[in-house]
This record gives sequence, structure tokens and C-alpha cells, in this order.
Amino acid sequence: MSENSGFHIQTVIILAIFALVFGLIYFFNKRQPFSGWVAIGYSAALMGYVIDSTRTPSTHIAFIFVSTAMFWIFSLAIAKAIYVRCNAAFPNILVGLILSSAVTGFTVLTFFAPDISIRSVLVSVVAGILLALCLPPLWKAGGRVIDGALFGVIATVATTFVVRVAVVYSLHGLTLTEQSYSQSTYAWIFHFTSGICALALAVVLLYAAGLDMIWHFHGQSNRDPLTGLLNRRGLKGLFKTSTVRSQDSINIRSVILFDIDHFKRVNDQYGHAAGDKVLQRIAKTASGLCQNQGQVARTGGEEFAILTDWIPIETAQLLAQHICDSLRFIAHPELDADHKVTASFGLAVLTDADSLHDAMDRADQALYHAKRNGRNQVALAKVA
Ligand code: GH3
Ligand code: MG
Ligand code: MG
Repeated sequence: MSENSGFHIQTVIILAIFALVFGLIYFFNKRQPFSGWVAIGYSAALMGYVIDSTRTPSTHIAFIFVSTAMFWIFSLAIAKAIYVRCNAAFPNILVGLILSSAVTGFTVLTFFAPDISIRSVLVSVVAGILLALCLPPLWKAGGRVIDGALFGVIATVATTFVVRVAVVYSLHGLTLTEQSYSQSTYAWIFHFTSGICALALAVVLLYAAGLDMIWHFHGQSNRDPLTGLLNRRGLKGLFKTSTVRSQDSINIRSVILFDIDHFKRVNDQYGHAAGDKVLQRIAKTASGLCQNQGQVARTGGEEFAILTDWIPIETAQLLAQHICDSLRFIAHPELDADHKVTASFGLAVLTDADSLHDAMDRADQALYHAKRNGRNQVALAKVA
């Protein structure tokens, strides 16, 4: 056993643990492809590291090529994970160009103008460049601490991949040979920095995966599972966090409540499953019509609320009327063709002094009047 064996075994175990941990996170939570890509990255790093740290002058070139490919796949998979996480389009063409140039360079430096020193520079620099692809989407995502942490660590690791070769060769010159590689200072620094970088990166990536899960479940607790709309709690949260106010008195915020008319009959006649489909269609139509004028929430069984953006009261009224007119024309294949589903609407203006609860109370009273007045209509609440 060489004196480096202990370090190598430790690094291999660390890489294997992270490949396994990220793989398990993905296995139990398939909605997080980020972790799946990181697991692929760490599995590739593990394979690349095992081959490179056990190589001897007689190791076949095919293994060296595989270990190089694995280091590049590590960087690529981490980049892919970050792009998936940031919902950014992966730069396929750029990656294709980098990889084809890299493979050409590797082939030339192996078979046509063999030079292991320059080839090792190429291997490390390409891995650094591929990793640096993560930086633009992280920069744009910005704002959150985790994005800053990922940016910082990835920038440091990518820089290390480039700088380490410059440092080694400025000290020793380009004197590496196939025979001297495994015992060289370069190999030692390459393995040491790779291990440390992989560890530092994994810690931040694990933190990101954990945070993503917390945000996911937090988001779920604010959403209605049937329609995907915000629930009452989500609506309250939205009201609290949307603090930007309009500077003029024309644009105001309103609450529009609507309740489906005689919905019990839908369930009674066609069954609960048909009722659910109708609810989903109504939710989709209402949020489609709101676009950027307001946010729809499902506040009860067949009751919905819209918190409008800062728009003139006339626009809010038109919006409510438009949704009211449109719902009647939705085709519901589960119901008889002549069974029209309508809803009654109540609209209340939110004053500066209002809580959401106050405005919803007034909108509810208006809705009650709309029901009493014959349903399928919009009623305006009295001003607070
Ligand atoms: P109104 O016009 O006065 O509002 O009459 P309505 O029948 O709509 O009102 P009511 O409050 O009597 O009945 C509401 C019905 O909504 C009863 C309940 O079975 C149904 N409902 C509530 N939540 C759901 C749901 O998630 N799915 C389905 N399919 N039905 C639901
Ligand atoms: Mg109701
Ligand atoms: Mg109803």
C-alpha cells in the first residue's frame, strides 16, 4: 500500500456515500431530478477517481479515457442538476462544442502528439469550464442565500480545476511522463484537490436538496390538491407578502368571492367524481381568465376567492362579470349537455384599513345577495 492509499480510500468512501445519499433522495422523491443528476455526477466521479488513483504505467489507455470521461461527466451532471434546479435551458450546443473539442484534443495528445502533461491540463481545464456553466443560471437566480452559496462553491471549485494545473506546472514544468504520472506531485495535487472540492460541493448541494424539499412541502401546504390553486392559507400568505401599494387612488385591490350554484345537484345527479372534474375545470377557467389581474384560490368546497392586483374597480367588476359569463359556457362532458354550471359572485373593495378577513366578509354578504337575487350574477358589496 502506498502512503496515499489511506487518503484514496477515504475519498472513494466519501464519493460513494454522496452518490448513494443523492441517489436515495431521488429514489424517494422523484420530483427532485436535481438530486438524480447529482447522484449521477458523484457516481461518475467515484468511478473516475478509482481508475485514476489506481493507475500504473501499464494501465490500458481505454481506462484512462474512461476515467477522463467520468471527470467530465461529473462536471456535466452537476451543471445539468443546477440548470434543472434553476429551470434554465441547458446550453446543449455550447456543451457539444466544448466536448467535441475536448475529445479531439485528448485523442491528439494521446495518439498523434502524445503529451501527458498537456493532456492532464486539458482534462482538468475542461472539467472546470463545464462546471463554470452553472454560474450564469445561478447568477440570474440570485437573491437566496443558497443560490449565493452554490455560486461561491462552484466558482471556487471551477477555478481550482483550472488553477491547480497552472500551479503545478509553473513549479515543475511540463515534465510529466506516462511512467512518472502516478507518483507525481501533479497526481497527488489532482487527487487531493478533487477530493476536497467534491466534499465541499456535496455539502452545499445536500443543503440545497434539503431546502428544496422544505420549500416543496411548504408550497404544498398552501395549495389545494384537487385544483392546484392556492388554498385559504395560501391566499392569506399572498395577502401578507404582497405589500407593494399603488401610488394613485384609481388602482385598488378587491376580493371577488364566487360560489358554484346548486353544486349539490351535480354531485347528487352525476356523482362526486364528476363534481370533482367540474371543480377542476372551473378552477382552470377562472385562473386562466385572471391572468395577471389577480390570483384565484379555492377557499372551500365549491367556493373560490380572487385577490385582484392593483386595478381600477371597473376592471375588477368586468373581470368578475367576465368569469361569471364564461363559466356557463364551459362544456362538462360528465354532465347532460343542457346542464349548465353557473356561479354567483360577490365583490368587495379592500380598503387600507381592511384585513383580508373583513373584505371577504363583505364580499360574502354581496355573494349572498347574488344568490338571493337569482344566482349566476355579480353583486357589489357596500363600501366599508
Ligand atoms: P348554492 O347555489 O346555494 O350554493 O347551492 P349548492 O348546492 O352549491 O350549495 P351547498 O352548500 O348546499 O352544497 C355544496 C356542495 O358542494 C355540497 C358538497 O357535496 C359539494 N362539495 C364540496 N366540496 C366538494 C368537493 O371537493 N368535490 C365535490 N365533488 N363536491 C364537493
Ligand atoms: Mg357554498
Ligand atoms: Mg354553492
